[in-house]
Amino acid sequence: MSSPSPQPAVTVLGLGPMGRSLAAAFLAAGVRTTVWNRTPGRDRELVERGAVSAPTPEEAVAASELVVVCVVNYDASDAILRREAVVDALKGRTLVNLTADTPDRARDTAAWADRHGIAYLDGAIMTPTTTIGTPDAVFIYSGPAELHRSHGSVLEALGGTHTHLGEDIGRAAAYDVALLGIFWTAMAGYAHALALAKAEGITARELAPFAQGIGAILPPIFEATAGHVDDGSFSGEDNPLTSSASSMAHIIAASEAHGIDAAVMRAAEGQARRAIGLGYGNDGFTRVTAILGPR
Ligand code: NDP
Repeated sequence: MSSPSPQPAVTVLGLGPMGRSLAAAFLAAGVRTTVWNRTPGRDRELVERGAVSAPTPEEAVAASELVVVCVVNYDASDAILRREAVVDALKGRTLVNLTADTPDRARDTAAWADRHGIAYLDGAIMTPTTTIGTPDAVFIYSGPAELHRSHGSVLEALGGTHTHLGEDIGRAAAYDVALLGIFWTAMAGYAHALALAKAEGITARELAPFAQGIGAILPPIFEATAGHVDDGSFSGEDNPLTSSASSMAHIIAASEAHGIDAAVMRAAEGQARRAIGLGYGNDGFTRVTAILGPR
């Protein structure tokens, strides 16, 4: 008779909103979960649900073969991980860093982990805390495929999809910063739109259904233009840059007539005008992609 397989175990370092959601999802899936956070007390609800609260990060690390860290940035994860006692405890274990930061910070952390005999997988979470533990959660990883494979069954307790993007350790962070660039510039545009609408007597609630319609236009554009960008054709057949720049100028004029800061729009219009000035007025807006690099 084979002995029952041991209960899977994980340590979660960092109990901000995301770290707490990760730990809660592990617990809900029956994974033995040890937690630690710099500021004590953030683990109260998790402990009520069965988490083990560790008094120090090194004791937290020692409790599990798999350690997940999720804090504000890599300065914070370095502050936790690069202390001698923690490094000693991490030796021979697997560290999955779900903290967001730059690709270079991920590469630097991988080199540090390698020097200390720590197996290292980098990752990023592309969806909000409310999705964690549900089919809507999106996790991306990069680094050794073998680590992704061997810890996949525990990580899948977090719900959603867990995509390995390649062995280059910086690749998940590279996707993350590119994708968050879409998110934050869209949010800046949305804040500008709300200010302009308000100045014209339109409430956010009134604008919201139409704003959703504008948001829905984007996914097919991403799909349709990806090929143009990759092959450098930047077709502007349906909407040339000259037309885009004119539309942006109206938005700037309407905003500034109300004394509203149009910096976000001015940045976009400036890019379009520069591309037009370089002779690309008949191309589509994605032509801007090709002029953003170092001059
Ligand atoms: P925060 O980004 O605010 O991170 C809070 C956590 O960082 C807390 O555990 C905090 O500890 C810790 N921390 C901050 N500075 C330090 C430090 N110097 N030393 C040790 N710990 C420190 O909140 P989230 O939990 O939401 O985010 C964690 C990560 O997840 C971030 O990289 C974020 O970009 C990413 N993410 C978050 C999403 C979300 O919806 N919240 C969505 C997708 C990704 P303390 O309690 O002691 O202050």
